Amino acid sequence: MYRHIVLLGAPGAGKGTQADALVKTLGVPHIASGDLFRDHQSRGTELGVLARSYMERGELVPDDVTIRMVEERLTREDARVGFALDGFPRTLEQARALDRVLVRQGRCVDMVIYIRVPEEELERRLGGRWLCGTCQAPYHVVFSPPRRVGVCDRCGGELFQRADDAPETVRQRLSVYLGQTLPLIQYYKGMGKLVEVDGSRPIEEVTRDVLARVSQNGD
Ligand code: AMP
Repeated sequence: MYRHIVLLGAPGAGKGTQADALVKTLGVPHIASGDLFRDHQSRGTELGVLARSYMERGELVPDDVTIRMVEERLTREDARVGFALDGFPRTLEQARALDRVLVRQGRCVDMVIYIRVPEEELERRLGGRWLCGTCQAPYHVVFSPPRRVGVCDRCGGELFQRADDAPETVRQRLSVYLGQTLPLIQYYKGMGKLVEVDGSRPIEEVTRDVLARVSQNGD
């Protein structure tokens, strides 16, 4: 099994959902840079305050602070066996920094799973997205509604809508993705690490595909 996995894809492509599936199968932590920033915000740290201004506009938080934050997370005990990275790297600078950090630790990214979804579909998905405030489980008003309105099926937590899922911010996030993150596809393709999955299919089908890819070297 590959255990050092990067999930690449636009906001709303389903990276978080597929990362959760990898956590269960591979026993690696789900490390989402957006969740790390939101955690800093809820604790009111200096980094949280800085990040908020960028996140509200749908822009990227500067590379240096983002890289430091993720590097610190990667050195924690639970990430020694691997990781499912979600939302990081998002720029070439971040991708190169990730490689440097991992090399220092004697490891490397094993596989990059690019979840591809057409743009109109992304706008539709982000518009109706609800998340659990406690366990972060994602829902959608149309495609995967919770059993009880506003309540998480998994843990009973209260569901909320992200402020940056508002339509203007969604458009800005998608354009940042196209400009700054899409070049990573070439970067990882060049390294022979990229596998592409069609993320427009039902969640279970995408998961089956993703799990088959990470198990492809057998052990
Ligand atoms: P996400 O939850 O991945 O959609 O991220 C929400 C927001 O957090 C993004 O729109 C950015 O403002 C910020 N963010 C998350 N990850 C990164 C990253 N790798 N680099 C810069 N900003 C990020």
